[in-house]
Amino acid sequence: MKIICIGRNYADHAKEMNAPLPSAPVFFMKPDTAMLPAGNPFYIPDFTNDLHYECELVVKIKKAGKHIPENFAGDYYDEIGLGIDFTARDLQTACKEKGLPWEIGKAFDNSAPMGTHFLPKTALNLADLTFTLHKNGELVQTGHTTNMIFSIDQLIAYVSQFITLKTGDLLFTGTPAGVGPVAIGDRLEGFIAEEKLLDLQIK
Ligand code: MG
Repeated sequence: MKIICIGRNYADHAKEMNAPLPSAPVFFMKPDTAMLPAGNPFYIPDFTNDLHYECELVVKIKKAGKHIPENFAGDYYDEIGLGIDFTARDLQTACKEKGLPWEIGKAFDNSAPMGTHFLPKTALNLADLTFTLHKNGELVQTGHTTNMIFSIDQLIAYVSQFITLKTGDLLFTGTPAGVGPVAIGDRLEGFIAEEKLLDLQIK
């Protein structure tokens, strides 16, 4: 299983990061050791002083595919969930400034906490879906799929040109504006529409 993460897929987040809008999807990977199943607390690693949450819709790939045409991409997933793309922003920023890969700031152990369950896409309007993240009860991120620069189907078509997708792979589809730091004792709660999928304690 691999985790593929899309960067800068919401214009408002690209703006808050002072990053230009991409003309093609930007993606990076997290290894399977990044996955943190629901129910586990997240322990802030000691190598960062600026750990940021990024709440994202997560697509679970249901069958293997390569060079998937956009108009067939829907055949490759049935379920949508929620996850956090934890980012050691200080390490990532240092890598960016040196033109280096981001892995130490993005791909570390447990950097991809997952929601409790996935929702069937048939129960959702993917073209107009809202998700939110709350920190200590306060709304900090609101994402609307209408604001995605590249749709889920476009992302699958693009990524599968380079990397074979396999059953169980997870595609993190990018975060909207409102990213920010977490501290010990914080609680993150994530929702798709009104349904709670993520409840994470920071330790
Ligand atoms: Mg992200």
